[in-house]
Amino acid sequence: MNISENIKKYRDDLPENVKLVAISKTKPNEDILEAYEAGQRIFGENKIQEMTDKWEALPKDIEWHMVGHVQRNKVKYMAPFVGLIHAVDSLKLLKEINKQAKKHELLIKCLLQIKIAEEDSKFGISAEEAEEILASEAYQKMKNTKVIGLMGMATFTDDEKQVSSEFQYLKKVFDKLKESYPALEELSMGMSGDYKLAVANGSSMVRIGSSIFGERNYN
Ligand SMILES: *Cc1c(COP(=O)(O)O)cnc(C)c1O
Repeated sequence: MNISENIKKYRDDLPENVKLVAISKTKPNEDILEAYEAGQRIFGENKIQEMTDKWEALPKDIEWHMVGHVQRNKVKYMAPFVGLIHAVDSLKLLKEINKQAKKHELLIKCLLQIKIAEEDSKFGISAEEAEEILASEAYQKMKNTKVIGLMGMATFTDDEKQVSSEFQYLKKVFDKLKESYPALEELSMGMSGDYKLAVANGSSMVRIGSSIFGERNYN
C-alpha cells in the first residue's frame, strides 16, 4: 500500500464538497503520519481508547472522528479533543456527551446514525426516532452538543441497486429533516467498497479505511 498516493488519489477523485475521513483503526501511528504528510487531517477511529492513545502521540492539528458505537461511560475520555461523533443513537448518549462537553466548556458536534441496512448487526435508529430526538425539549436545551447531520452504513452486498437505494433513502431522510433543522449539514455515508454510490447519492463525508491503509489485522 502506498498510503500517500492513495490519499492523493482520493483527493483528486472526490468532489470538492465531499470530506475524506481516513479510517485508521488498527493501524500504527507511522501509517497515520504518512497520510498526514500527504496532507490528510481528518482521521476516524472506532475505539475510544485507541483514538485517545493516537491523539496523545500524534500532531495536534489532526481532527479525530469517532465513527464506532459509543459506550456512555467512555465519552469522558474523548470529550476534550473529539472533532465529530458519527454514530449517536440515543438521547441518553447525547445527554452524556453534552455533560462531558460542558465540563471542558466545549461544543461537541455529533451525527445521528440511521439504520439503513438490512443486517441486524448494524446499529442505528429510525428516521422517526431521529426526529423525536431533535424535537425533544431535552435536546433543544443542550448548549454543549450539536447534531450537525446524519450517518448511515449500507448493507454489505455486491448488489449496487440495493446499496444505492439505501443511500437514496438516507438522503431523503436528511433533506426532509433539514427543512425543520437547518443545522443539519453533513451526511456521512460511503466506505471503501461503496463510496462512489454514496457520493452519487449526496454524501458529504466518506469514511475510507482499507483502500487507503490496506486490509486490517485484528489480533
Ligand atoms: C471501519 C469503518 C469504515 C471503513 O471501512 P473500509 O471498508 O475499510 O473503508 C467506515 N465506517 C465505519 C463506521 C467503520 O467502522
